[in-house]
Amino acid sequence: MDRLSNKKVLITGAARGIGEAIAKLFVEEGAIVILTDINDKLGYKTTSNIGGKTEYYHLDVAVEEDWEELSKVIVDKYGHLDVVVNNAGITGFLEAEGPFDPENINMDSWHKVHEINLDGVALGCKYGIKMMKASKSASIINISSRSGVVGIPFATAYASSKAAVRNHTKSVALYCAEQDYSIRCNSIHPGAILTPMWDAMIGTGEERDKSIKGIASDIPLGVMGDPLDVAYAALYLASDESKYVTGIELHVDGGILAGSKATGK
Ligand code: NAP
Repeated sequence: MDRLSNKKVLITGAARGIGEAIAKLFVEEGAIVILTDINDKLGYKTTSNIGGKTEYYHLDVAVEEDWEELSKVIVDKYGHLDVVVNNAGITGFLEAEGPFDPENINMDSWHKVHEINLDGVALGCKYGIKMMKASKSASIINISSRSGVVGIPFATAYASSKAAVRNHTKSVALYCAEQDYSIRCNSIHPGAILTPMWDAMIGTGEERDKSIKGIASDIPLGVMGDPLDVAYAALYLASDESKYVTGIELHVDGGILAGSKATGK
């Protein structure tokens, strides 16, 4: 129960879904967790439900001033951080207008998705490194996606932004090693994890059940994932058990990226 004993952790987009599950598990494992999000009402509620050593702050990952201000508060209060989980991300389907395919892409949606998914992670790494340099054993975990490894024709900006996160993670890992910082950096690639992010795509009631079954039938393990499946992967990368692990990509996708079904020739 103490795999993260007294580690000071910041998680972005932690009001719900995967970020919330990571926050809850990390607290159970002894961490002090700073939850952040743009959805402040839900963020405060989630933080109070989790309880333990938690705090909530507003942080829009795409706004550099937000990172600057929060860094000051954290350094004043805690001295340094040990773990940053760059989790906040959007598909763009609700936040921007389509089309989303490469031939007709609406460039406003392209920029919006990259601003949050890629710039947000770059800022999280930039300010994360500054807040973690004083840690004896620190870890940055970037939540990419299985869509960052393969092409997704009807979510082209999402896929591109997540691919860039995958690559940036490796640059950060090597940079920190070269600078002799005790900071590791790895990416997690979830696929088909049932969170509120899916709500807009799978509908409600019977339609929702049917959609989930349809999605699950294309997953080698035959079910959609649970946010806790990703949280356990993050726990390993946050803990000192992974002290020799940097620059890797960890797939948590029920086998989606393992290859295609043996139905073709
Ligand atoms: P989610 O349920 O939509 O939760 C994401 C949270 O991030 C929400 O609370 C959202 O607030 C917040 N957020 C959005 N924009 C933000 C910003 N600019 N700054 C700070 N917070 C912001 O999503 P999820 O499924 O848990 O996904 C978490 C991460 O996993 C994302 O990076 C996603 O791309 C990645 N991922 C998920 C899956 C999956 O199947 N679920 C698969 C692959 C990768 P609002 O509610 O106000 O928007």
